[in-house]
Amino acid sequence: MNLPDYHIHTPFCGHAGGRIEEYVLAARKRGLPEMGFADHLPLFHIQDRTLTMSEEDLPVYVDKVHELQRQHPDFTIRLGIEADYITTHLGQLAAALARYRFDYVYGSVHFIGGWGIDQSRFKFEFERRDINEVYEKYFQLVMDAARTGLFDIMTHLDVVKKYGHRPTVDMQPLYHEVGAALAKSNVAIELNSSGLRKPVGEIYPSLEILKIMREHGVPITFGSDAHKPPQVSQDFDQLLAHARAAGYEDYVGFSGRERIPRPLP
Ligand SMILES: [Zn+2]
Ligand SMILES: [Zn+2]
Repeated sequence: MNLPDYHIHTPFCGHAGGRIEEYVLAARKRGLPEMGFADHLPLFHIQDRTLTMSEEDLPVYVDKVHELQRQHPDFTIRLGIEADYITTHLGQLAAALARYRFDYVYGSVHFIGGWGIDQSRFKFEFERRDINEVYEKYFQLVMDAARTGLFDIMTHLDVVKKYGHRPTVDMQPLYHEVGAALAKSNVAIELNSSGLRKPVGEIYPSLEILKIMREHGVPITFGSDAHKPPQVSQDFDQLLAHARAAGYEDYVGFSGRERIPRPLP
């Protein structure tokens, strides 16, 4: 597979398996042109060692990726991070991101207020709410996140569909708003294959959304969201077909938070 996998977790986050070295070996074995770690930055509103790395582990994570870069001089390993958009803690988030020279920062929306929308233990909440309002609130947060300028890429753009809950009205006007906001804020999106492993059984984002992002000129990256070494670049053939089906001919890599445009293979 001739695409980089930029969304790889590590055991630092408390819910990924294997050893960090094994993810590098998996990427090399699959012949990826490059890879990038993007583990979960600490959440500042809650401390949960099963959701993210701890604040003390952040420098250890950065050092570990630098060490792997030194050990593999013939293979590009990027230093990324996945950061939650938590509206009440943006100062702490900005400070943490400014402390290190990341190659890229993924923004993710996993929370609507205090509700962890992608956690199975809170799935019941979907039944208690108006699904169309949930979608609207979720994508509003995605747009707000993009406008902060803190993030380079929004990850799993429609993760709100994870458990198969679908809006009952046409969301295209909202998706166009999202596309315009991302384009204006210079934020890319990620084609993420982990949705194929989730109840929804689909790539993030849907082809409907991806086509709209393409219309607005929002660039793409690729990620498996691997939480186990064998998941590195999993289903990337499907991601590539998805990108092409939406009309994309290019994607972007990142170095020092600068985009590197490349043609699709
Ligand atoms: Zn995770
Ligand atoms: Zn992730």
